[in-house]
Formats: sequence, structure tokens, C-alpha cells
Amino acid sequence: MSEIYSVGIIGGGVSGVVSALQLAEHNIDSILFEQENSVVNGPPFCHLHAGGNLYPDISYEQCKLLMKQSIEMARLFPQSIDERPTFISIPKTEKYEVDKIEQRLNLLVDYYQTLIDEDPENAILGDPKDYYKTYNNDDLQFLATQPTVKHPKTADEWMTNAIKLIDYTKLKTPIILVQEYGWNLFRLGAQAQLALNKTEYCNLKTNTDVLSITDVRDQNLGYNWKIQTKDNTYKVNYLVNSCGFKTGKFDESLHLTTERLIEFKAAYVSKWQPIPGLIPELIFHGERGTPHGMVQLTPYCDDYYQIHGMTNDITLFENGLVQSKDNKSQPEFNEGITKKLNHGWDNDDIKTRTENAIDSVVKFVPSFESASVGGPPLFGAQQIPGDDPNLRVGEVSFPCKSYARSEIVKASSALTVANQIINRMLEESVVSKIDTSLQQKTLLDAVSKNDIDELARELAVQRGYPEALSRLVIEKY
Ligand SMILES: Cc1cc2nc3c(=O)[nH]c(=O)nc-3n(C[C@H](O)[C@H](O)[C@H](O)COP(=O)(O)OP(=O)(O)OC[C@H]3O[C@@H](n4cnc5c(N)ncnc54)[C@H](O)[C@@H]3O)c2cc1C
Repeated sequence: MSEIYSVGIIGGGVSGVVSALQLAEHNIDSILFEQENSVVNGPPFCHLHAGGNLYPDISYEQCKLLMKQSIEMARLFPQSIDERPTFISIPKTEKYEVDKIEQRLNLLVDYYQTLIDEDPENAILGDPKDYYKTYNNDDLQFLATQPTVKHPKTADEWMTNAIKLIDYTKLKTPIILVQEYGWNLFRLGAQAQLALNKTEYCNLKTNTDVLSITDVRDQNLGYNWKIQTKDNTYKVNYLVNSCGFKTGKFDESLHLTTERLIEFKAAYVSKWQPIPGLIPELIFHGERGTPHGMVQLTPYCDDYYQIHGMTNDITLFENGLVQSKDNKSQPEFNEGITKKLNHGWDNDDIKTRTENAIDSVVKFVPSFESASVGGPPLFGAQQIPGDDPNLRVGEVSFPCKSYARSEIVKASSALTVANQIINRMLEESVVSKIDTSLQQKTLLDAVSKNDIDELARELAVQRGYPEALSRLVIEKY
């Protein structure tokens, strides 16, 4: 094949697809390789993290970045954002202090206002004065006596529905309701795939595993890299490594030594009885990795709920977090985790871990006892650059000329990374002058809601999940 592509992107996760879309918006051609049969098919995501309120331990600076990047991504993919709020609580047994969380929230309200002052379209989390609301014991007692609202609209209505189900005597007060939204990966994947299929600026190659890359930068061939797949060799000028937790594999072939962590995690799909009104996402904080690590209950349509529990017998795994060592850039999981990643889960394992997850919720929501396994877990491995497992905002690095390595920790960093790559290409004169301050999204905007609905449903079912997981609890028209 003689065509030379400006950019070769390895990996069609959220980072790779957003990079390809941003390049296409600037009329820069790329070829995008994804080994699976559809894009955004790696580790899952379900929280937008607009403010980092699920992480009591991270710095205000990380929370700000998460908020800014989340808003940017939500503006690109509005049909993937589930606008239901999040209930944030601290069990009385836990060390965290509500005061500290509130202090951070107050700073975030001011920061959110500055983002809106910069661009009114950033107001995707509603009015800053409503970003969060606190509820003390008296408020909760009163709301518990109010009627359930089938489709809650106000913070009080959401809290009313939630508090009727929760044993709040176990929780410190005040309890917080914050406009932290859900994020639907099937819908994001569908919108991205449909947009990429429409543009002549991206050659999307699904079902295509990149086997190796060859560095020909010093050979004056008119291109810098050869990308080898089973059937072809492709020539590209600029290489983007967005292979997720496998990023180190190509670093190694380039003799680049980098420190990174990779982490295997899972979230569980449960089905509950119908309840009379929608509830927010429920968060019960707890120290990660201890037997009382954070519990998260994420509502989906048709009585499906996703559960994370930050303990070793629910979301986390023994030896699930591994570090690069012995001058190797690619960390390796043990046999058990590798088997899960490559061949899926045993039924016994699904049952045991989903039931553990359900039990962790029952501690705070007693009637959740009637929930049962609703489908296979959402699972996968993700990368964390460096050696700090608490890092929540990873970005991109440029270890050598014509090479970008994306290592996002949260899906919200994907647009920042794409723009950084384009700026770097400009600096390296790989592309001629373009106005990067213009944030266009014509390709994504051209995809209809109906098409997103349909492909998202197909992706969920194809991957073995209930169709309901492809829909939003708060549908957007
Ligand atoms: C259980 C769990 C829950 C999570 N929840 C959230 C959340 O709520 N919110 C959030 O923001 N983040 C969440 N994350 C993190 C989020 O999933 C990742 O940050 C994000 O998916 C990383 O995107 P990526 O594009 O960098 O990598 P990936 O999504 O891993 O994409 C890499 C892609 O590269 C492909 N690939 C790899 N090697 C090759 C090759 N040789 N040839 C071709 N293709 C290749 C893979 O198939 C994959 O599709 C969660 C992670 C886990 C594990």
C-alpha cells in the first residue's frame, strides 16, 4: 500500500477515537487501528467525574481539572451523559470529614462559575448555585415523609426518593447531593464510531491488531513509521500510541523505558425489583482497598444497577495493580487476571463477586437484598502513568519526535490529549498552520440520536450486556 497517512493511531478506545475525530475536524488524515470489532471496547466507564467528588483523597487541583475536562467531553458527546445527580455520604465508621468535602465543593462552585464566565455553553451541570446541596438530619427526616416522585427534577425530589431506601442512621451528616452525572460508554462509542465512519479523514480499521511498528525516522523515506498488521504494512508520519494498558508494549519495541502502573478492575451488573421513583447514583465513601472501601450504586434503565465496591473481593483484585519493573515498560498481570482479560469470566466468579457487590449495597440500602445478578461484569485494565496509584488525571507524553503516548486515567482527559497531540504536531511541523483555538464538533453533531440509540443498543447486546445499559435514565431529545 503506497498511501502515506499523516497520523497512525493505535488503539480505538476513548482516547484514540477522540484524537482521530479532532484530527479530522482539522482536515488532518489518520488511520486508526482497533483490534476489537468496535471502538470504545476496552475498560468501562460510567461516571463523568465532573468535580472529582467520588475521590475524597485527591487534591483540589485534580478536581478542577476533572471538572474542566469533563465539561469539555460532555459538550462533545451530550447523548452519552446521564444527567442524574449523585448522593455523596460518609458512613459514621469512616475517617473522612464532611466539612472537608464541603470546603472543596465550595471552591468547585466558584471554579464552575469561572468556566461559565469564559463560555456560557460550559453550563452543562446546571446553575452553579445548584451544583451541590447539603442535607442535615432534620432535612432528611422531613424528606423521608414526603411522597416519592417518579421522575424527580429538583435536588429535594431526588433526595426524597433516595433517603426512603437508605438507612441513613449509619451515615454522617450532612449528606450531599451533587450534580455529578453518569457517562454511558455504549452511547459514546456509538456516536464516535458513526462519526468516524462518515469522515473521509479517518480510515477506521476495526478487527485489526497492530503487530509491530518500525521506526524509519532516519531513512528519509517521506514517512516516519511502518505499522505492521497481519495483512498489511501502513506508512505514517506521526504515531499515536493509545493502546490503553498495553501502551508499554510499543514503548518497549522503541527501547523507551517508562514507569507505569496498570490496574485490573470490575463493576457488576445487578437487577433489582422496580422501585417507585428514580434514584441518584449512591456513594458511600470508605477507604479504598480495605474491607469497607467505597460502595457505588449506579442506576440504569429497566431496574438495572451497576455496582463498584473498592474492596479486594468486589472491584479490586489481589495483585490487580501492577507496576513496570526490571527496565520493562509493560507491566504484566498474573495468570488469573490475564485469563479474565483474554477469555472472560467463569460463571461462579461472576455470581460470587456480583453477590459480594450486592451485599455491600445492602449494608446501606436494606431492600437491595432482593437484587440479583443482572449480567456479566464490566471489566478491564487501565493505565496510570508514573507510580502514583491515586493519580486521576493522566495525559500525554512525547518521549521522542513524531511519537505521542496517550495515558489517560479518566475518559474525560481524551479531548485534552487530542488537542495536545495536534499542538505538538504543529510544533514539529508535521502539519501546517491550523487554528487550534477553534473547537469544532461538526462530525459528532452530524450523528442523529436515533442512530446513536440503535448502534449503542447493538454494541451493548453484542458485548453480552442487557440492552437497557445502552440507554440513559434521563433521556435527552
Ligand atoms: C472497572 C473500571 C471502571 C472505570 N470507570 C471509569 C469511570 O467511571 N469514568 C472514567 O472516566 N473512567 C473510568 N475508568 C477508566 C477508563 O476506562 C479509562 O480511563 C479509559 O477507558 C482509557 O481509555 P484509553 O482510550 O486510553 O484506553 P482503552 O480504552 O484501553 O483503549 C485502548 C484500545 O487499544 C486497543 N489496542 C491495544 N493494543 C492494540 C493493538 N496492538 N492493535 C490494535 N488495537 C489495540 C484495545 O483493544 C483498546 O480498545 C474505569 C476503568 C475500569 C477498569
